[in-house]
Amino acid sequence: MKRISILGATGSIGQSTIDLVARAPESYAVEALTGGRNVARLAEDARRLGARIAVTAHDDLLGDLRAALEGSGVEAAAGTTALIEAAARPADWVMSAIVGAAGLAPGLAAVETGTTLALANKETLVTAGPLLMARAQASGATVLPVDSEHSAIFQSLRGEDMATVERIILTASGGAFRDRPLEELHEVTVAEASTHPNWAMGQRITIDSASMFNKALEVIETREFFGVEPERIEVVIHPESIVHALVGHRDGGVMAHMGAPDMRHAIGYALNWPGRATLPVERLDLVRLGQLTFREADPARYKALALARRVMAEGGLAGAVFNAAKERALDHFIAGRIGFLRMADLVERAMDEDAAGADGAGAEITLETVTHADQVTRQAVDRMIGARAE
Ligand code: NDP
Repeated sequence: MKRISILGATGSIGQSTIDLVARAPESYAVEALTGGRNVARLAEDARRLGARIAVTAHDDLLGDLRAALEGSGVEAAAGTTALIEAAARPADWVMSAIVGAAGLAPGLAAVETGTTLALANKETLVTAGPLLMARAQASGATVLPVDSEHSAIFQSLRGEDMATVERIILTASGGAFRDRPLEELHEVTVAEASTHPNWAMGQRITIDSASMFNKALEVIETREFFGVEPERIEVVIHPESIVHALVGHRDGGVMAHMGAPDMRHAIGYALNWPGRATLPVERLDLVRLGQLTFREADPARYKALALARRVMAEGGLAGAVFNAAKERALDHFIAGRIGFLRMADLVERAMDEDAAGADGAGAEITLETVTHADQVTRQAVDRMIGARAE
């Protein structure tokens, strides 16, 4: 029986993970489930799965969580420290699926125990990739990718020698606005940006898909996870979201990973690795699909991709600055304070100003320096638009 914990259990990835776990209750013992504001969902799942502890990130919701868990035997806790402690409880497998930079400290805490970390939280690698990998190496932890593209690369690389890899190609659906003229994007609404043509995901990553910031994060994630040079990472638009990534070798052969756009494949792969289990995902019908199409990711249209290249060139804390500016700009877009295209402008300005003094490759990457760069950058973005922090 595998002892598991799920960080971000109430979100889109967390719920898909629970779906898989609940289908084979005899195979799993649930140690910890964590969530944010959705205490009702957290408590219900903790009861159903017989978790040892349920933790909400918000101190003010502890009373509600306790009430919802009364008589269940599940321990309740709240707050950032409790969340990190929950992540560090002994487990064979931990899903890191908190959204945003808030996932960094719990993910690091889990890795220090030497567990297998299934990493959906891409922000961990973007802001502190070298730190995560160093801690994993020190503790003997295994880090498995859950992002669909990175799971696809990981699967395509099985049994291969990294030295023969010429290039890695990430596919991007293009998100909600792939067919909208650029000049119309100034006016798009939050509701429009929150609808994805192929994937059902949390709101923030869905908007990041429309702005291409999600792919920008994934390019950096590819660099950090697989250690490939930035110039060997390519992005193509693939509207059908069937080919998730491709690995090109020096002999001209290209391995493509295909599958239905359902995150339970990548999650299930990480959950059953190094084996494969039967998963409840749709099987591809290639004849019905008929054709798969690919087109250029226009650099003039997708400023986020150019900014990702800049992050990789600068190194150090540039990823923390980039991610924090992106997260804060997204907060302001969701709150209706700025237009859709302004997000990329704010991120670029935050990188230019470098209020955090990130100072490129020389900066040391620790949880403290990343957290400081994150906070200072968020404040800088607020100043740029004259908003007060909530
Ligand atoms: P969701 O927004 O659906 O869920 C986020 C989870 O994090 C929820 O459990 C939420 O709790 C919790 N949470 C939010 N804020 C905090 C906080 N400050 N502290 C602790 N917990 C918090 O996100 P997704 O599931 O879509 O994404 C999760 C991660 O996985 C992201 O990093 C995303 O980029 C990545 N990812 C997601 C994919 C997808 O298909 N959704 C695909 C590939 C990667 P609550 O809801 O209770 O407030």
